[in-house]
Amino acid sequence: MIPIIQPWVDEREAEAAAAVVRSGWLAQGPRVAEFERALADAVGASEAAALSSCTAALHLALAAHGIGPGDEVVVPSLSFIATTNAVAYCGATPVFADVAADVPNVDADSVAKALSPRTRAVIVAHQVGMPADLLPLTALCAERGLLLVEDAACAIGSTYRGRRIGTVAADHPGGDVVAWSFHPRKVLTTGEGGALTVSDGAFAARLRTLRQHAMSVGSSERHATGALVLPVYDEVGWNYRMTDVQAAIGLVQLERLDAIIARRRALALRYAELLAGVERLTLPRDPVWGTTNYQSYVVCLAAPSRNATLRQVRDAVLDALLRAEVGARPGIMAAHHERAWAKAQTAPLPHSDRWADGSIALPLFHTMGDDDQIAVADRLVAAISRAV
Ligand SMILES: *Cc1c(COP(=O)(O)O)cnc(C)c1O
Repeated sequence: MIPIIQPWVDEREAEAAAAVVRSGWLAQGPRVAEFERALADAVGASEAAALSSCTAALHLALAAHGIGPGDEVVVPSLSFIATTNAVAYCGATPVFADVAADVPNVDADSVAKALSPRTRAVIVAHQVGMPADLLPLTALCAERGLLLVEDAACAIGSTYRGRRIGTVAADHPGGDVVAWSFHPRKVLTTGEGGALTVSDGAFAARLRTLRQHAMSVGSSERHATGALVLPVYDEVGWNYRMTDVQAAIGLVQLERLDAIIARRRALALRYAELLAGVERLTLPRDPVWGTTNYQSYVVCLAAPSRNATLRQVRDAVLDALLRAEVGARPGIMAAHHERAWAKAQTAPLPHSDRWADGSIALPLFHTMGDDDQIAVADRLVAAISRAV
């Protein structure tokens, strides 16, 4: 089986994790603080708060801004379901905006259509690493006084107008936050893990307090003073901590980041050569405003001419690939297609439907050989010609 992804980890990550275990300090210690500094530097932000997941990060970003019942948050339905769920955790209402036809992201026009007087925030996802067109969105949100949260779960190392994702938010002090994921399915992994990056030191400090039960003094500060310091709890917080084991792995991963992205982009280029000109298939490419890290290589099938739905054709292609030992996956899900969120759809989402029904993520991992890529391309072409 050719897998969809393999995390790029080796003895260096194993050694870093083992060193933390040997140190005896496993949670919220020196490695977490170091990882936060290194992550902020890597993405061009001024501060980072390391967290247990990107889902936690999205929730915390909204909660720390006081978003709650009665508030609306505009989100892409076309995203991993956590983007929408994070709004529900605050008791707020998600309102779906459609994505564009040619990039799997919401834009200022589609977001504008979903705004109401109750809108407090917008979440834009850089889906599968493809950068969203940020500047029109930051302008729209600034004009309306809305918080803009970037769901950059997939987008570490992607760029927008020549700068890394994470940097644009740093130009909008006091507001914009960027959420990251370090799940093994993403570009950089700590096993499980996430973070928020922000431009404002006081806000970062507040995020770090809220992530550990809103405790007034954290364990590392208490340790540093060497004196008796008793924490107080002025509000309700969460346990969204990252461990030092995760952070130590993340520090090694950050050193590999440029190599990981260069490799993913080289493999994507090869797929583009192998699949050029295949009928009924659209290939991913960089949008005019930036570059993708190819967290996933997502191709799209054209709507079928015969009497079958796009979803049926796509599933037939996936099934054929699986039987040919190619670990392809549905490309991007849509929350409003799931029972958990079907009732939340208030307007047609035609582009989200088309992406969710017709997209396929192909295997892409660093040890992939040219023979693997040729096999994937051949089997995909065969599967498509049989399915349509
Ligand atoms: C994976 C993913 C998440 C959730 O990340 P976790 O770290 O697993 O919580 C959120 N949003 C998007 C767009 C994702 O791809």
